Amino acid sequence: MGVSAHRPAPRRYRELSYRSVTLPGMAEGTTSTATATVPNPAPEGAERVRRPALSPSRASDFKQCPLLYRFRAVDRLPEVPTKAQVRGTLVHSVLERLFSLPRDERVPARARELLRPMWTELSQERPEWTELFADDDSRGESEWLDSATQLVDAYFGLEDPSRLDPEACELHVETELGSGVLLRGYIDRLDVAPTGEIRVVDYKTGTAPRQIGEAKAMFQMKFYAVVLWRLRGEVPRQLKLMYLTDGQELAYTPDEPELVRFERTLEAIWQAILRAGRTGDFRPSPSKLCGWCSHQSRCPEFGGTPPEYPGWPEPDPGEESVLDRAD
Ligand code: SF4
Repeated sequence: MGVSAHRPAPRRYRELSYRSVTLPGMAEGTTSTATATVPNPAPEGAERVRRPALSPSRASDFKQCPLLYRFRAVDRLPEVPTKAQVRGTLVHSVLERLFSLPRDERVPARARELLRPMWTELSQERPEWTELFADDDSRGESEWLDSATQLVDAYFGLEDPSRLDPEACELHVETELGSGVLLRGYIDRLDVAPTGEIRVVDYKTGTAPRQIGEAKAMFQMKFYAVVLWRLRGEVPRQLKLMYLTDGQELAYTPDEPELVRFERTLEAIWQAILRAGRTGDFRPSPSKLCGWCSHQSRCPEFGGTPPEYPGWPEPDPGEESVLDRAD
């Protein structure tokens, strides 16, 4: 195991039930193939009942502060995204779209060309995001797009996308542990080598302080490692984070005993969530991360009063938002 020192967008991919398909491999400079297991679409018109599940973002919330988890997952209180969060979603969308292009088109100039039309597409899907720029003159949005361009350019400093074919981008994964805990999440990018080795890739564009961001990111990556291990019977060879702001990478190699322990951690977190869910006893846990919390006005630690507990939600308190998936 070892640490050596990267997320899109709102594309909802194929979900539930799994099938084997043959897809391009990941090895740089090769075009060989690998067999992979990817989700099938739900049958046309089928009513899908989503069982409560644990996602990396919500598990991380509960660990940080049970009351924050409640506000987000149970009360589902709205949060106004920041420009940085929306920019993260935009950059993730561009990188996802980039890999749908032929290899010889995966170049910086082409990626830059994708930015503005992708922003138009996103802002049509979520017109409320354009309100972030309501008080700016036209330069504000333009400068914001320039900063997104810089992140996309920085990506090309970390790897050459024309030399690899991911098995999937923005992959929805879901698995049930032996204990019955359902894990669910979205993986930015999944690479599978011709030899079958799995690499999980996550893009990071957020502005969280590095230390905090990294600990949270590695929790998220181990979560994906457990899900993939349980789905495919293979421990991912590498968990790779690509930090686009400063062009740094963090690579980690998990092993099976570690994932067994991490699975127990996830089960313990879910049991704690269920216990709190039955009673509504989600306690605040103040930390320096409170500075980034949108709910201080409702938090007793800051003199606020939480809304009346609405009861345990159905069907799914574990769902992640597009912004969760593009930090
Ligand atoms: S302000 Fe801090 S303690 Fe209060 S809900 Fe938010 S994260 Fe928790």
